[in-house]
Amino acid sequence: MNSVIPHWALPQVAVAGSDATFPVRRIYCVGRNYAEHAREMGGNPEREPPFFFMKPADAIVTGGRMDYPSQTADLQHEIELVVALARGGRDIPAAAALDCVFGYAVGLDMTRRDLQAELKAKGRSWEMGKAFDQSAPISAIVPASRIGHPRRGAITLTVNSQSRQHGDLADMIWPVADIIANLSGYVTLQPGDLIFTGTPAGVGKVERGDRLEGAVEGVGTLSVTIV
Ligand code: MN
Repeated sequence: MNSVIPHWALPQVAVAGSDATFPVRRIYCVGRNYAEHAREMGGNPEREPPFFFMKPADAIVTGGRMDYPSQTADLQHEIELVVALARGGRDIPAAAALDCVFGYAVGLDMTRRDLQAELKAKGRSWEMGKAFDQSAPISAIVPASRIGHPRRGAITLTVNSQSRQHGDLADMIWPVADIIANLSGYVTLQPGDLIFTGTPAGVGKVERGDRLEGAVEGVGTLSVTIV
């Protein structure tokens, strides 16, 4: 079949330790999945059901440089563990959810916080605060066959070598298996889907020229410069 416009290249992420890549289908993100961060955002740190938002697949950034976006004077970092799915399904039981996981990466859910706050205050969708171009820097994906399924370990972010975020995966309100189970009740998950699993406390502002260094113990590191 002819298409009326040229096909674009699938967004893809490198797989650590190989020449292979992971093609990205959709990006789901979990809001407020660490109690301390829920508190700093003025929300309820109790275990409410997880809630989700999305970014477009081509929001991923793999080159280590992110352009400062338009329409904001308060670009903020959120360091997150990212789950990459090799298999999907609907109504996946938590006990079977980790079988869907291909691997894990370190990601940044970059946020136009001023815009998000304004949209929130008006009861409007967060999308333009969250789902903009280059809003999802990500490291190479490390296969679970190599590292297993991390349940605990430090998740950290420095900006220009100053510590900003420091949490532990064990403090996730909803662990990875529960996130997959819950999300698959709303949508049929698919191979290629990424899930950003939420950020620990300490989110803050970045400026042009800042160098962000993220790390998730047992998974890897991510370096991004804002240009
Ligand atoms: Mn986030």
